Amino acid sequence: MATLKESLSKGITAINVKTSSFMEESKCKTYILTLEKEIQALKANIGEIVYAKSVANEPYDEPVTQLIQQIQGKYEEIEQQKKAIEQLAVEQRQILGTDQASVMKYCANCGAENAGNYKFCCKCGTPLG
Ligand SMILES: [Zn+2]
Repeated sequence: MATLKESLSKGITAINVKTSSFMEESKCKTYILTLEKEIQALKANIGEIVYAKSVANEPYDEPVTQLIQQIQGKYEEIEQQKKAIEQLAVEQRQILGTDQASVMKYCANCGAENAGNYKFCCKCGTPLG
């Protein structure tokens, strides 16, 4: 009984890990999209400022530099989000042990043990399911 209970709770944990990291991942991806849109808007802003100031024959270095700094800050945030997504994938593999090669497959023909990423049996060449 204890074993069944253990394997049940392990299964539930695995589902929770999958769901939560999927949600974390899509949150990160949505945030990246938002940042990219903001960057586009800031770049458009720079264009407008440069144009308006040029027409008025005024210097535009300062406002443009400020906007460029904002844009660079957002690019850094995007990099952080991307790293967080990579980290999530690593954690998920560690917790669930879903590395393809770590799950063994057994040949239906000869019974040989094959790494999970093998398409054919290493002993007899039978296609592995
Ligand atoms: Zn075989």
